[in-house]
Amino acid sequence: MRIPYEDLVAHISRRHGVPAEQIDRRVRSRRARTGGLLSPGLAARTVSASLALGELEAKLGRHLAAKARHVSGLHEDDALQAARAEAARGRSCTLGYWARPGEQAPSIAARYARAIELVADAGLPASVSIKVDLLGFDRALLAPVLRAARARDVRVHFDAQGFETIARTHELVEEAWHLGTDVSATLPARLLRSGADAERFIRLGIPVRVVKGQGGDPEHPKLDPRQACLELVERLAGRAAFVGIATHDRRVAAPALARLAAAGTPCGLEQMRSLPRLDFVADDLELPTRVYIAYGHAGLPYAIGECLRRPAIVGWILRDLLLRHRPLSTARHSNQP
Ligand SMILES: Cc1cc2nc3c(=O)[nH]c(=O)nc-3n(C[C@H](O)[C@H](O)[C@H](O)COP(=O)(O)OP(=O)(O)OC[C@H]3O[C@@H](n4cnc5c(N)ncnc54)[C@H](O)[C@@H]3O)c2cc1C
Repeated sequence: MRIPYEDLVAHISRRHGVPAEQIDRRVRSRRARTGGLLSPGLAARTVSASLALGELEAKLGRHLAAKARHVSGLHEDDALQAARAEAARGRSCTLGYWARPGEQAPSIAARYARAIELVADAGLPASVSIKVDLLGFDRALLAPVLRAARARDVRVHFDAQGFETIARTHELVEEAWHLGTDVSATLPARLLRSGADAERFIRLGIPVRVVKGQGGDPEHPKLDPRQACLELVERLAGRAAFVGIATHDRRVAAPALARLAAAGTPCGLEQMRSLPRLDFVADDLELPTRVYIAYGHAGLPYAIGECLRRPAIVGWILRDLLLRHRPLSTARHSNQP
């Protein structure tokens, strides 16, 4: 029996927890890319299969992450200790609590608020990174986090979690900014919409973190991450309030920071604490480095689904499985491309 298209989309939406409009948009984009070769029903089923693959990838990611050590410990104390060590070396930090699978949104929000209090009490040069999709975009849960940030004068950085959630994330960034909170936002270069988002953040004077993006743009899957980063930087140069370049790819970090510095744009490098670091690139340009200190429950700083496009990731997975990560040297030659 043939299921009507609307019913099929509603079913996929319920099964994967993705809004029906988004599924419909992806169906249209897929049909356009295949020159109408796929019927709406078939295209919807391929979208459903992609979402299922994504879920499988996340599950496998959690399994691998449990074996790796990309977090600086389980508790706030571990993160504070790491932040103090970085501060002693002249680095600022952002503390990012990575929630345990299935953790309830109120518990995650409480963790974010506690991180703000602890950073302020410790007098550390640190911001707190949050993932508002994990709060279910619930304004009532976010409000105390933002209140604490304003009261304690701590910046809240909004991490980006991917295509499906970016619009609602940026909406909350702007609302928080209008409330007078010190906020910064993430621009994932692999999402085509980031160009337009950059324009809005430039206009508002909101600092941004440029990343390649862990997930791609399903409507523009062929965007080259490195090129897209540099194009975004070109747009921001001479215009943005502040640009953090968050990459471990020297071929992005070096030209991006040089371009921003030449344009007189306040900027700096941002590094994950557990990955091979490029601090020397920023040091050479006399620019600051901010370190992302992940704590809580294990996650992976790469997308498993990118393995086919980037076989090097298989090596990183093996390294995670066999060796486990430790914060690595920031010495000049630690990450030659
Ligand atoms: C501080 C920071 C914050 C971020 N915040 C976000 C965010 O909010 N939203 C988002 O979508 N993404 C975020 N990302 C992730 C980002 O989008 C990329 O997925 C990630 O940084 C990998 O891309 P890359 O630019 O570092 O380059 P890549 O080309 O992936 O990596 C460059 C080099 O770094 C080394 N390397 C990188 N990863 C590993 C690894 N796992 N194991 C061993 N070596 C490795 C390798 O030598 C590699 O050649 C963040 C990244 C950083 C550094």
